[in-house]
Amino acid sequence: MNQNMEYGHDYRFIPATSLKSGSGIEVLPDLLCYTVQIVNFCLVGDPNKEDFVVVDAGMPGSANEIISVAEERFGVNSRPKAIILTHGHFDHVGALIELVKHWRVPVYAHQLELPYLTGQKSYPEPDPTVEGGMVAKMSPMFPNEAINLGKNVQILPSDGTVPHMAGFKWIHTPGHAPGHISLFREKDRSLIAGDAFVTVKQEYLYKVFTQEQEISGPPRYLTTDWMAAKASVIKLAELQPAVAITGHGVPMSGELLTTSLEKLVNEFDQRAVPNYGKYVN
Ligand SMILES: [Zn+2]
Ligand SMILES: [Zn+2]
Repeated sequence: MNQNMEYGHDYRFIPATSLKSGSGIEVLPDLLCYTVQIVNFCLVGDPNKEDFVVVDAGMPGSANEIISVAEERFGVNSRPKAIILTHGHFDHVGALIELVKHWRVPVYAHQLELPYLTGQKSYPEPDPTVEGGMVAKMSPMFPNEAINLGKNVQILPSDGTVPHMAGFKWIHTPGHAPGHISLFREKDRSLIAGDAFVTVKQEYLYKVFTQEQEISGPPRYLTTDWMAAKASVIKLAELQPAVAITGHGVPMSGELLTTSLEKLVNEFDQRAVPNYGKYVN
């Protein structure tokens, strides 16, 4: 393993949290959604077996917590086969370098996300002027520089399969980030959506804190391509997921998910796209 990895220089602890921080929800027997401050990561795999993967890598400074959640579920000294990234925003790669060093596992991401994972390209600056609440206003403190994973990150297979996640396919869902992906398992229609859509109004601090469940488009302050974001939500709704774990908010399932997704698709321009902001139009 190449040890030459580096976070963006602007990486730091972000003082924002939620009531769900530090707790996990077992969405399915082999699917755990765990909340670190204001973001979720997933452990995918049967806890009675040794094979599992981690999807996304939490907030800056959360590596020890992620490791202990994994060890609690899969046993002391257990380690995943891989870490799969839905995208490379700071709140999804915040503990990644420590995790890769500790577990010595490969990281997989979409090809279009690679420049942001190998230190070549920073994400556009978050937009504090976008329509929304306090989280949007405080977004300038969010890191947007690229993490550099060097040779530790690999491109997802082009046939749609996901390494070490049998039954899951990756789906390109750009808009929030160019190489954003979601993960879908046909067998039980489970969806790991990343930030393609979320189940909390992520721009509003009190909603983030209480985690009030409400379907929402991708977090506004970091979404730069709203046309693509809309097409991605339509693509995911067409899969008719039975359960969805999103990057932010409480997992949603059944009738509530179906009707909420339908509403998000039909009213995307009003509900998801901000009325103003520097990445609109
Ligand atoms: Zn994001
Ligand atoms: Zn996010």
